[in-house]
Amino acid sequence: MKEVLDISLENEMDLVLAHRRSMQVGEQLGLTVATRTTFATAVSEIARTAIEYTDNGRLTIIISGKYPRYSLYARVVFDSDQTFRATDEGFFYAKKLLPDFSFSSSGNAYVIEMGLGLPRSLKLDEPKLALLKDFFEQVTPLNAYEEIKKKNNHLHRLTGEQEEEIRIRRELDEKKSEFISVASHELKTPITVVKAYTQMLKLLKDQYTDKVAGVIDKLDMQTTKLSLLAQQLMDVSKVENGSLQYDLVDVDLNEFVNETVTILSNVHSGNQINISLGEPCQIKADPLRLEQVLTNLLGNAVKYSARNSTIDIATELSENKDNVIVKVTDRGLGMSPDGIAKIFDKFYRLDEVSTSHPGLGMGLYISSKIISDHGGKIWVKSVLNEGSTFFFTVPVQAV
Ligand code: ADP
Repeated sequence: MKEVLDISLENEMDLVLAHRRSMQVGEQLGLTVATRTTFATAVSEIARTAIEYTDNGRLTIIISGKYPRYSLYARVVFDSDQTFRATDEGFFYAKKLLPDFSFSSSGNAYVIEMGLGLPRSLKLDEPKLALLKDFFEQVTPLNAYEEIKKKNNHLHRLTGEQEEEIRIRRELDEKKSEFISVASHELKTPITVVKAYTQMLKLLKDQYTDKVAGVIDKLDMQTTKLSLLAQQLMDVSKVENGSLQYDLVDVDLNEFVNETVTILSNVHSGNQINISLGEPCQIKADPLRLEQVLTNLLGNAVKYSARNSTIDIATELSENKDNVIVKVTDRGLGMSPDGIAKIFDKFYRLDEVSTSHPGLGMGLYISSKIISDHGGKIWVKSVLNEGSTFFFTVPVQAV
């Protein structure tokens, strides 16, 4: 079966197209003037009925059958609240014109097929039918109306394809998020158990040789890293499904920064970390989540800088004192302007570090969500090979 052409039936202009194109099909096939006129009249009758009651009809002209016996068919499909019968006027007339006529309905959808067998004398074969299809695909529009219609159809098809692509992408994204959520939960339990046993072993340190104690320390350190990664995966999935929750309390920002950075300085003892605190202020925040942001920024500053380099943490109030700004400055690798644009995206890592430094590109994505959920902003200024300053703000509580 070959669909030769397809016309949507929306208004009277389409009736003209339906008639003229049906005539043309007959002409291209080599039918006599009488036969093609009969076929085109029957098609017009049915198309008129469809257009009278609906604007959603569709006419398709089809060549069915196999070499050497082919038939020419027209199929009109439409939906309508109106009840139609095969005995209705237009149908009645068309039925009389063509030898094959079928009418079927299911709910509000109607399908009418009508046609005639094509004489062998036309000497049709598959290559000829392929040429016929090509002819109607490339044929110049009959009038401005058909030209616009063709363009519209093309646009519709493109929009449809784009929508389909978006739907598939969304589906894939949902599957990915679901996988991350399940995987992170599945990882959590064994990691917690390993961590607990490691802690137990640490408590019994005196009973081991120094070498074994050293191995246990390493085991503990790696388990902590693993548990951090699982936690980050879990947070990414919470960000995705909007279930990241906050326990907001009043926080003295400077005190908080001072305490957190002092603890973190012990972990990052290979770098010189300076704290410079501005005017004190109170904020409303979830301290654990805010600590997560500072840990991420400071951790990155250390990770992407040379050992022994200096890192500065500073706080200051914004010009109109309604926000506090926290800055983390390193003198490390820095970033190119192209890279900066994407670093807050999920799983994004710069090419320069992807093989040289460990990481999964989740930290800044989660941090930016935490900061925006606190009503603040996060951004970075960076110069390649000179270093970076990450900034974030949190609204100050009025006192
Ligand atoms: P990760 O560090 O695990 O890759 P992040 O989300 O914390 O994930 O950071 C995303 C990317 O941003 C990093 O892979 C790195 O390319 C870049 N980046 C982050 N912080 C810095 C920094 N202080 N200096 C240079 N590049 C950085």
